[in-house]
Amino acid sequence: MVPRPAPPPSDDGSEEEVGTTLLALPDGPIEAGAAPSHTTSYIGGYPAFPPSTASSAPAAVKCGVCQEPIPLLAQVYAPLVDGENDRTVYVWACARAACKRREGSIRAFRASARNEEYVADVAAKRAEAERIAAEERAKARINPFTTKDAPTGGLFGSAQPLFGAAAANPFAAPAPAGEAAPAAAVAAPTEAVAALSIATEPVTLGPPLPAYQPAQYLATIDEYLPLPESDDEDDVDSDDDETPEMKAEWRDEGWERLLPKGVDDIFERFVRRLDSAEDGSTQVLRYDFGAVPLPYSSSSALFKKLFPGAPVRAPSSEEEEVYLADWYKPSFIPPCPRCKGKRVFEVQLVPQLINVLRPSALSTTGAAPVPAPAKNLTEDERKAELTRLAKGEGESEMEWGTIMVFSCEKDCVGVGEEWVGVEWEAVVEA
Ligand SMILES: [Zn+2]
Ligand SMILES: [Zn+2]
Repeated sequence: MVPRPAPPPSDDGSEEEVGTTLLALPDGPIEAGAAPSHTTSYIGGYPAFPPSTASSAPAAVKCGVCQEPIPLLAQVYAPLVDGENDRTVYVWACARAACKRREGSIRAFRASARNEEYVADVAAKRAEAERIAAEERAKARINPFTTKDAPTGGLFGSAQPLFGAAAANPFAAPAPAGEAAPAAAVAAPTEAVAALSIATEPVTLGPPLPAYQPAQYLATIDEYLPLPESDDEDDVDSDDDETPEMKAEWRDEGWERLLPKGVDDIFERFVRRLDSAEDGSTQVLRYDFGAVPLPYSSSSALFKKLFPGAPVRAPSSEEEEVYLADWYKPSFIPPCPRCKGKRVFEVQLVPQLINVLRPSALSTTGAAPVPAPAKNLTEDERKAELTRLAKGEGESEMEWGTIMVFSCEKDCVGVGEEWVGVEWEAVVEA
């Protein structure tokens, strides 16, 4: 899948910020035998840790409830813009029915490893920025009437992207034929760097740990949301014969299928956001480092903690958006235990992933399970299966609404657990 171009810049600022969120979509199975590295993004399969973290990478990640090894949901390669590290985020979840909706059944780790190419890249950018700053200072000296303050120290302390470059796509492009693709547009590596990067193999977990098979590559696109009011001519999906009224009616009917009207405006907002992303309706995860996550339900404990006091009813006017960011208070999230750095939102998984990672895809052999031929269960077999499921012994479909990962802002080097917040799937009241 070819990433779409960045959305056009907004000129009036009336709509939500568009374009900072990256959406990831399944993009085809990883061939059997291909060994993806920590610089590849995928769902299912086995995690790969950077070679330099071999001593600290977990041998298995276990459920905090049943203490059994649990399958990987997603591995996301996402080096920070102007960072010096390879950065990979991993999310696991227990598939056992008995562990569903229980704290500790979903876990996330992050591995960060110094990448000499990025280090060189950042050093080059820093040198260039310093050269420009020196020029500015020289200009300021020449023209005594300049009103512009000469930049002083703390050049790199700013939260603004100093270098002004567009953010590189933090996900590795899906690599053809199992080759790890270089992550960012950097200068060709020197031989020394190349030698360094192939010095050791990534640490990959494998059978007999459980995994969803086959693993699937992730392709990423920018989130592009149509402007709320624009029923403009360039909307390729629109039918010219449709009146605005017909369109509105269709939209309402579309909603009707998903939920009874007015059940939960936060949920409605969540679904609408996922549904309206151009080419992104099959998104399985959303990446937006340091941004405000998209909450799933106003009744979840996590929502109440993240957005205390936020209005949960949409304003009466259809087009007005509640800016939940004004209520966002993630300060209760514990800091990184390794460097004490603040944790910020980084990535969230959305329910489409549940439709892709089915219990029937779970395997402990490293290969995709062979589907059993359909057979008619006897009444006794059927009862036994139901009893097993009722006891929570079997694997069953996951039941979460969204999984949010909050991780170390300082990108400290090493492997360790990060903080996960889960909004469980809303229980449908009869
Ligand atoms: Zn468990
Ligand atoms: Zn840290």
